[in-house]
Amino acid sequence: MSKKSLKIAIAIDGFSSTGKSTVAKRLAKELGYIYIDTGAMYRAVTLYAIQHKLITDSTPNKELLIKKLREIKLSFKWNETLGFAEMYLNGKNVEKEIRGMEVSNLVSPIAAISEVRSYLVRLQREMGEKKGVVMDGRDIGSVVLPDAELKIFLIADPKIRTERRLLEMREKGENIDFNTIYNNVLERDYIDSTRADSPLIKTPDAIEIDASRIDKEEQFNRVMYLAQKAIQKANKK
Ligand code: C5P
Repeated sequence: MSKKSLKIAIAIDGFSSTGKSTVAKRLAKELGYIYIDTGAMYRAVTLYAIQHKLITDSTPNKELLIKKLREIKLSFKWNETLGFAEMYLNGKNVEKEIRGMEVSNLVSPIAAISEVRSYLVRLQREMGEKKGVVMDGRDIGSVVLPDAELKIFLIADPKIRTERRLLEMREKGENIDFNTIYNNVLERDYIDSTRADSPLIKTPDAIEIDASRIDKEEQFNRVMYLAQKAIQKANKK
């Protein structure tokens, strides 16, 4: 009888709108792994801060938010029709609200707060400890799952990322212009890469893929190939 295949952890990090979540979702589905969208968790904390008036003039009220962190209960619930787990904040499905521009504009300053990061990193580690997981974000390979057997780092030209995001938002019926998204992409890149606590970095053991000139299919094929090689390697040990 053949031995059951050992599952691995896959970390997919990179800049916003590089196709991380699309590739991670599909990879998890094909491998029968769990997919965790850590960006959704930072977005849900941001939504909570907006709803509870913990942000004034785009600046989070850090002390108050830190005090309230224990009241923020996050969970993912599987949606059979969509084929992925949706984000719930204190029992309410917030998947649509967390993807809008208001949250996108405020999420990076919230994600730069160390206490917010340690609260979410603890939850993310619990979700990843049993392996069989594909997790995407900014600090997965560097901080959350440093022992992940496969680490991918996605990059792409900011203008191409903006075009893709524009298309996505217009498909969802949002009327938005190129420059609004472009500025948001650049600002988040800057805050995410320069913050003091766990900035977005490519670890030496991560494999970089430039998604600027490849389509979703090619991107998926490359990542799937690397995942199969990493699974084989883990099973030879
Ligand atoms: O992945 P997504 O673009 O939805 O993430 C939203 C924001 O959450 C990022 O711009 C970043 O500021 C923050 N984030 C983070 N660490 C992660 C995932 C997301 O700081 N692991």
